Amino acid sequence: MHTSTTDPTSEATPLCEPCQGIQRHWRGAPGHPELQQGKHRKEQQGKVTVTTTGYFCDRCGAHWHYTNNKADQRSGWSLAPK
Ligand SMILES: [Zn+2]
Repeated sequence: MHTSTTDPTSEATPLCEPCQGIQRHWRGAPGHPELQQGKHRKEQQGKVTVTTTGYFCDRCGAHWHYTNNKADQRSGWSLAPK
C-alpha cells in the first residue's frame, strides 16, 4: 500500500474526467458542458457582491459551487460540501 497523494476529495464519489479537469479556486476558470446550472445566490461581502452558483454534473453527479468574487482571484470553482 502506497500512501502517496492526499486528496481531500478521494472519499467522495469519484469525479468524471471533465470534472477532474476543472481548475479550482481560480476566478474565471471554465467549467464543462455537462454541468447543469442550478440555483444561485448573492451575498454582500463588504463592498463587493459575491455570487455563488450551484452546478450539478450530469455525468458523475458532482455538486459544484462557482463563486464569483471580483475582489478575490482565489474564488471560483469548489466542490460543494456534502
Ligand atoms: Zn462530473
